[in-house]
Amino acid sequence: MKHLADVDPEIASLIQQENVRQHEKLRLIPSENYASAAVLEATGSVLTNKYSEGYANKRYYEGQQIVDQVETLAIQRAKALFGSESANVQPYSGSPANLAVYYAFCRPGDPIMGLALDHGGHLTHGWGVSITGDFFTPIRYQLHPETHLIDYDMMRDLARKHRPKLIMAGATAYPRIIDFQAFADVAKEVDAVFCVDMAHIAGLVAGGAHPSPVPMAHVVTTTTHKTLRGPRGGMILMKKSHAKAVNKAVFPGLQGGPHNHTTAAIAVALKEASTDDFKAYARKIVENAKHLAECLKAKGFHLVSGGTDNHLILVDVSKRGVTGKPYAKAMDRAGLVANYNTVPFDPRPPMDPSGIRMGTPGATTRGMGKPEMEKLASWMDRVLANVENEDALEKIRLEVKELCAAFPAPGVVV
Ligand SMILES: *Cc1c(COP(=O)(O)O)cnc(C)c1O
Repeated sequence: MKHLADVDPEIASLIQQENVRQHEKLRLIPSENYASAAVLEATGSVLTNKYSEGYANKRYYEGQQIVDQVETLAIQRAKALFGSESANVQPYSGSPANLAVYYAFCRPGDPIMGLALDHGGHLTHGWGVSITGDFFTPIRYQLHPETHLIDYDMMRDLARKHRPKLIMAGATAYPRIIDFQAFADVAKEVDAVFCVDMAHIAGLVAGGAHPSPVPMAHVVTTTTHKTLRGPRGGMILMKKSHAKAVNKAVFPGLQGGPHNHTTAAIAVALKEASTDDFKAYARKIVENAKHLAECLKAKGFHLVSGGTDNHLILVDVSKRGVTGKPYAKAMDRAGLVANYNTVPFDPRPPMDPSGIRMGTPGATTRGMGKPEMEKLASWMDRVLANVENEDALEKIRLEVKELCAAFPAPGVVV
């Protein structure tokens, strides 16, 4: 970053410090990953200079000879990888992708249905502080109080009672496989649009490590930067019959010019995700998560739903006498970066809930496997006993740093 260091040493230095932080600490936030150097190069390219409102061959600016090819490639790769009839690769991120879908199918005040935020849903699934909960009438299904699985009976009953215009399936903090067919059946019965938000699990779906919602859903939204390991961005996959409405909702409905540098990097990530290496990666994410879950249980940790089927683990640390926030902060000081999170039916407030949320996409990208998951569980147990013991946390941090040095993250330059 020679030019950056010349022009703006302050920002150059901060980026370099972030490189060091990402190198030395272990990324356990399940919505994060390490994008490849190839993805980062595309993101930092001159495509950022180009305006291209519209779609390939139907733009409102000249000079689209190259950009049209970039976007067309990204669309082709998205369709091929996920087996979808149509794709829109322009959403700026996951939240705008969801907004575009609501705008395509719903009018203000319409009932929409999604998983409650405090049960693992996303803000954009109709939570009150989000535009989606404010401009529409949110209906919220929850998890079952005993199994902590999605309460499919509740979802069906609410759908029959309120007849939502759109039913959203998908989550940010749900460690189990979602029964997409159950949702599709209910959506058909009540004549709702069925949208799956697969932001967290897109990489697992791409790699065949999680059932795909694409055959069952009318529309599928996703981010591109979580398990899919691309740049920060969003995509919408849909049946051909919905493409016109969704494309119109993205542009001109919601957005202006697409971020072409991001589109190029999405194309690169989709190419990477179509390889056998990526399939092995996706399977390994789940294998690591399951093994980590077993190791954590053996150490006495309490896991929401008792374990995991995917990349994500929710740990109820309150059962062991600490709360989520101080524990997550102590983990970070020990070099293990996760986030505090509510657990289902949490009696505690969201700013210091009962649990933490963690996952294996990052550690797996670094090449870590079962032995490292065992180390991780031991460290987490030691952190638990030393939440306020800075010397003990510092000792763990140095051990984590040593392990991370042996498993360097792609794209991170130190
Ligand atoms: C991350 C996430 C989003 C939002 O993505 P942003 O890129 O942060 O806007 C939406 N839905 C789900 C389920 C997510 O996990």
